[in-house]
Amino acid sequence: MNALCTGILSTMMPIQFRGDPDRKRLYLSFDDGPNPNTPKLLDILEYHGVKATFFILGKRIVNRESTLSAIFAAGHRIGNHSFSHLSARTLSYSALLDDMDRCAQEIHRIQPQWQPGICRPPYGKLSVGFVRYAVAREQRIVMWSKDAVDYRAPTADAIFARVHDVQNGDIILFHDEFPVTHQALEQLIPYWKEKGHEFAAL
Ligand SMILES: [Zn+2]
Repeated sequence: MNALCTGILSTMMPIQFRGDPDRKRLYLSFDDGPNPNTPKLLDILEYHGVKATFFILGKRIVNRESTLSAIFAAGHRIGNHSFSHLSARTLSYSALLDDMDRCAQEIHRIQPQWQPGICRPPYGKLSVGFVRYAVAREQRIVMWSKDAVDYRAPTADAIFARVHDVQNGDIILFHDEFPVTHQALEQLIPYWKEKGHEFAAL
């Protein structure tokens, strides 16, 4: 989507594609956790003093309750990425609402004090129904301005090459499960800090 389209969309609907363009601030976001590799990522973020945002899949919480708690305890932001990861475009509105609410219930089961407020559609597939859900539940939809495409990156260097050149306020999409993502972040975070960027949760 081009800048004009995303700009117009953002003024009309609760959809965010990037942060403040006037601050040297980046927003790292991680989709589809928790998973067995999330604790490793949490260690990396803690080592570098970075706060990030995790878009959680409800179906992955069972047996990983402690990982979800660790994300929360580390001060990262948690958003709703649905329970089942079905595309919003394939579901009826009531099925979509149930799927998103089911994820929120799962997060609340582990973290009763969690403040729901942000969400991201599976596969980034926006739909009328998803926007309707966000309005109904007073959620901000958070997309991204830069995609690491880490799910099919052959090496950490490929990820570095794709995302190192950033602009103020970029929201960068990663996934917490891939070792290449972790390796890339070990290079990227110091590189971005060197350029004067800071990091924040959404
Ligand atoms: Zn996803």
